Amino acid sequence: MEAENRTERKARWRRPEKYICSTCGQEHPFCWTCPCGFMICSDCMEENYWGMTCNGIHWTCPDCGAIRSFGND
Ligand SMILES: [Zn+2]
Ligand SMILES: [Zn+2]
Repeated sequence: MEAENRTERKARWRRPEKYICSTCGQEHPFCWTCPCGFMICSDCMEENYWGMTCNGIHWTCPDCGAIRSFGND
């Protein structure tokens, strides 16, 4: 029944002061982030969309392979 077993421990992941896209190196008001430090801006995400996600719900961090949600966490 459980579709997703969320066992990730409450990360001590704090929101960075600045979002600097790991892909284009630019600062953005928002980036998708991974706890490993990877960030990607919406432009780069769009460009790499089909390499990053296969369902539009989650994206895969190219650095550590973590599955990340598109929702705000
Ligand atoms: Zn970018
Ligand atoms: Zn990562």
